[in-house]
Amino acid sequence: MNPHFGFLPSDVEGMDDLVGLALDLRWSWNHEADEVWQALDPDLWAMTHNAWIVLLTMSHEQLRIRMADPAFRGKINDLLEKRQQAADEPAWFQKKYSGSALKTVAYFSMEYMLSEALPIYVGGLGNVAGDQLKAAADLGVPVTAVGLLYQQGYFRQEIDRNGNQLALFPYNDPMQLPITPLRLPNGEWLRIKVTISGYPVWLRTWQVQVGRTRLYLLDSNDAANLPIYRGLTSEVYGGGEELRIKQEIILGIGGWRLLRALGIRPEVCHMNEGHAAFLVLERAGDFMKETGVSFEEALAVTRAGNLFTTHTAVAAGFDHFNPSLVGQYLGSYAWEELHLSFDALMALGRENPNDHGESFNMAWLAVRGSGAVNGVSQLHGKVSQQLFQSLFPRWPRVEVPVGSVTNGVHMPSWDSSFSEEVWTHACGQDAWKGGLEGMEQSISCVPDEFLWEMRNRSKDTLVRYMRDRLARQWSVAGYPADIVEAARHIFDPAVLTLSFARRFVPYKRPFLLLHDEQRLIRILTNPDRPVQLILAGKTSPADESGKALIRQWIQFIERYRLYRHVVFISDYDMLLTENLVRGVDVWLNTPRRPWEASGTSGMKVLVNGGINVSELDGWWVEAYTPEVGWALGDGKEHGDDPAWDAEEANALYNILEQQLIPEFYTRNERGIPEKWVHRMRKSMSTLTPQFSANRTVREYTEKYYLPAAAKYLQRAEEKGAAGSRIVASHRELAAKWDGIHFGAEQSIHADGGYVFGIPVGLNGIDPAKVVVELYADSKDGGEPEKIVMQRQEAPPADGLPVYSAKVQTSRPASDYTIRVIPAYEDISSPLEDTLIRWQR
Ligand SMILES: *Cc1c(COP(=O)(O)O)cnc(C)c1O
Repeated sequence: MNPHFGFLPSDVEGMDDLVGLALDLRWSWNHEADEVWQALDPDLWAMTHNAWIVLLTMSHEQLRIRMADPAFRGKINDLLEKRQQAADEPAWFQKKYSGSALKTVAYFSMEYMLSEALPIYVGGLGNVAGDQLKAAADLGVPVTAVGLLYQQGYFRQEIDRNGNQLALFPYNDPMQLPITPLRLPNGEWLRIKVTISGYPVWLRTWQVQVGRTRLYLLDSNDAANLPIYRGLTSEVYGGGEELRIKQEIILGIGGWRLLRALGIRPEVCHMNEGHAAFLVLERAGDFMKETGVSFEEALAVTRAGNLFTTHTAVAAGFDHFNPSLVGQYLGSYAWEELHLSFDALMALGRENPNDHGESFNMAWLAVRGSGAVNGVSQLHGKVSQQLFQSLFPRWPRVEVPVGSVTNGVHMPSWDSSFSEEVWTHACGQDAWKGGLEGMEQSISCVPDEFLWEMRNRSKDTLVRYMRDRLARQWSVAGYPADIVEAARHIFDPAVLTLSFARRFVPYKRPFLLLHDEQRLIRILTNPDRPVQLILAGKTSPADESGKALIRQWIQFIERYRLYRHVVFISDYDMLLTENLVRGVDVWLNTPRRPWEASGTSGMKVLVNGGINVSELDGWWVEAYTPEVGWALGDGKEHGDDPAWDAEEANALYNILEQQLIPEFYTRNERGIPEKWVHRMRKSMSTLTPQFSANRTVREYTEKYYLPAAAKYLQRAEEKGAAGSRIVASHRELAAKWDGIHFGAEQSIHADGGYVFGIPVGLNGIDPAKVVVELYADSKDGGEPEKIVMQRQEAPPADGLPVYSAKVQTSRPASDYTIRVIPAYEDISSPLEDTLIRWQR
């Protein structure tokens, strides 16, 4: 029974059903129910896209009338049946991995972008979390998500007439959000306790239904809390270091306790960025209590089931905390719950455990607490190897244990109704629920006319949306009535439409297009081939440089009276994104490489036939070919060199003037730009499946979740016996490691290569616990050559045992060197044991 039921008429038959539909965020991507909410209150639905608000707000009288209408009831029953079917029928995961040991993945993230109706996100990170959760629901991957419920969320933006950003913090009344309090079977509201500075903080708990998956949220606005704690979860990324550490304690430690209270025992925990890394401590602490093993042993077991996804492209981006803060907030927790001294706790977050001045880095904790680490694009995986290099001293960069899974977006959330029609027609109803095989082929066959019509209808919708939104914006900002009226007529659906919408921060270079104002004006106002540009983006309220970037654009528009060619739409959020990505022809992206770890906004236009023009950074490095879009940059890093910015700005103008605009406006006898449509088709067919969250979630499942579950379960057997063996082996190796020594190497030529032999003294280490390897760097920065050397059966009585290996190669023998690395149990080296000993 829904707890808000008191606000709804209880005597109307079928009310529970309607409530069930309204509280399932499935309506945020499955648009079959739209007409229901629209029928109930068209205005409120259009404004909020929040089915729950519609239900709570409308008059009981109206509800009664509607519910008495058999046609309306029939529609609801139909939707319920479909929803039930979607929940029951075996999806991709059930079909492919029904017998697997993976029962639950717990996903931890500071933010989730699921729907405008639940504003608990800032941007890209929340987008990744939200879209992957929805894709997991479609695919049946058993993900349970954990996050925070923010009373204010991220700020809302208005822009005044001078181009100043105004930051507004409307209160999110939890009762009006599509969430329900988590109640225990006895009716009690489940509350979770964490301790901060010796005082309890009570956390209220909530549930969000996302198709067949669930998101659980925590918030600290509990009346039992000290006033200072009640607002801990009011703003996402608000306040400073001190608020951040408290929020992260709530997410990581509180989040794990919430799962435990619900009886959920995940095999795998997925940390979306290092914010959640305190869960590593609590999960290990739980295992200690269950089995009686030490913290170190518990960590050796539980880390096998933790996956850390890093999204940061620069070292400064990692969260780190002053030692005194860690002591204040976690010192007694570590001692009482984990039996860890303050120094031992700090060592988990320090590069050099003995450096008492070093702060506590959440990413270091996440690495030391995980069985696998990944970046969010291939390039970002490599960049992260560099960022984490210092944790793996003497290991070659290419062996720093960071893999990659490139992000993707949840296509059903971002497609327009017109593109949905095209995809459904070409690929069937369940296009995004399975393995996507054959999709490229199917879309390749859609005729030009269909694609072009889809594009035009989508753009027409966008232009109408923009006019409404701009009129509202200008009216609120106090523009004269005639200008507000003019807003209702701007833009032309026939004109090439570009968008630059993203956070206004210097690394995204929103100023790039403004490099040569006159040239940009000529491009926009060419009467034969006009261009219209839509800008949007927020900047942190405290960021003066970001606010100046917004003003620069508004003032440019004002100074040259470019109202009909460029608009800045305020309050960039999910709803605006949806409208933009469905309608624009071109999505522009100009980050400074390699700062855009992946980027996702450009992926959202793919399904709608939009074309990307982007710096060769993040996902675009993998996606770009000359057939699908345009690339900026030379694939190298140039820092913030203004000369390079100028060069790239000119390159961008050149692309627009010489290639993109002519291609868009060159039409055949049927009025279709053939080359453009060809490009759309190529981009849609090859990139959409590849950059869908469907592919991403399948990749996470197969590459990380399934192996992690198996490894964790195996290590957890017999009260974590494997963990104890791992700790003992590591201690043995560490104590004797410095005594490892090599005799004289011998290499002899043998049929097209060499036989290497070397005496190795292991200083009493069990030979079964190490591997002696022949190693050569790759010539082209790729995977190095590694060959395991065999220990000779009978070592000479007086000498060291000889290890040997044969290698076929044309390289000189001096390219090869020999090393010893740990290899005991099933540890992943160097992630779980960083020891390494080189011959030279
Ligand atoms: C998709 C999206 C983002 C992420 O965009 P990037 O440009 O890839 O960083 C941020 N904010 C909103 C509102 C979005 O919809």
